Formats: sequence, structure tokens, C-alpha cells
Amino acid sequence: MTCSECLAHVSHCHGTLIVDLVAVECTDADCVDLDPARHALVVARGRVPVSTR
Ligand SMILES: [Zn+2]
Ligand SMILES: [Zn+2]
Repeated sequence: MTCSECLAHVSHCHGTLIVDLVAVECTDADCVDLDPARHALVVARGRVPVSTR
């Protein structure tokens, strides 16, 4: 896969960063840095706080 960031030689990842409540992981097994800034796709997983009021 090639994207504009690839062409610009920017350090980034094509995987999806999954931000959990207690951990962060990436769908790309070759991911070397779990930095949200390197990922175009970042999803939050886990329970969303529900307001009872
Ligand atoms: Zn790219
Ligand atoms: Zn990644």
C-alpha cells in the first residue's frame, strides 16, 4: 500500500491503532511504534462511560 505519507517518507503505519482502556495495540503485526500520531486510523475500544444523569 502506498499513500501520500509513504511518498513523503513519513514514519507512519497503515494498521489500525486500537486504544483500549488499559492497553494500546495495532492491527499491523509489523508496527514498531504505537503512537497515535503515526496512525491514520485510531479507534477507541472498551466501555464508554455512560452518564446516569
Ligand atoms: Zn503510507
Ligand atoms: Zn501501527
